[in-house]
Amino acid sequence: MRLLLVEDHVPLADELLADLARQGYAVDWLADGRDALYQGASEPYDLIILDLGLPGKPGLQVLTEWRAGGLSVPVLILTARGSWAERIEGLKAGADDYLSKPFHPEELQLRIQVLLRRAHGLANQPQLQAAGWLLDEGRQCVRRKGEGEEVELTSAEFRLLRYFMLHAGQILSKSHLAEHLYDGETERDSNVIEVHVNHLRRKIGREMIETRRGQGYRFSGGAV
Ligand code: CA
Repeated sequence: MRLLLVEDHVPLADELLADLARQGYAVDWLADGRDALYQGASEPYDLIILDLGLPGKPGLQVLTEWRAGGLSVPVLILTARGSWAERIEGLKAGADDYLSKPFHPEELQLRIQVLLRRAHGLANQPQLQAAGWLLDEGRQCVRRKGEGEEVELTSAEFRLLRYFMLHAGQILSKSHLAEHLYDGETERDSNVIEVHVNHLRRKIGREMIETRRGQGYRFSGGAV
């Protein structure tokens, strides 16, 4: 999943970037509201974390303009400590959730997971599951529903499987996957995607990921 982090407080941004990378998210970071307004609307983000107090353009204005322009990406706002007015204004402007500073990194992590599941119609799931598999996003491993044995995943396999599970039954091209699994700075090589898909197939079964010639991959195990 690819995230945009908009935060002008550099120590906090550094900490969040490191945390989010450990959780397998590809993150682009911006500190200026004007840059965020443009980039948030032009790159295919899966979720945006938006500080409200920003140079260039206030976060609230950025969010208002995104929503007015039709951007439907989930947005989680970061608000000042104790500012209920900011939280209310943010929610009115179209934020999906908020966190007040300071917050515990694990709370951000769990809220991101919930927002992403909700955005993909899986709001009822306390843990990400699809096509008979349960993904443990904290420990980055997977197991078949009803079985105890866990399958260990590399970071790349985890990122790919999480994306597949959130988009079960959909045909996903290699270039689409590359756009959502790597940040804007990383060179995207769709051959690498092919390698990770093959590794993942060896771990969870070939039949789980179907190849549609000339179109891409479909995660379903033939069930959908
Ligand atoms: Ca700020």
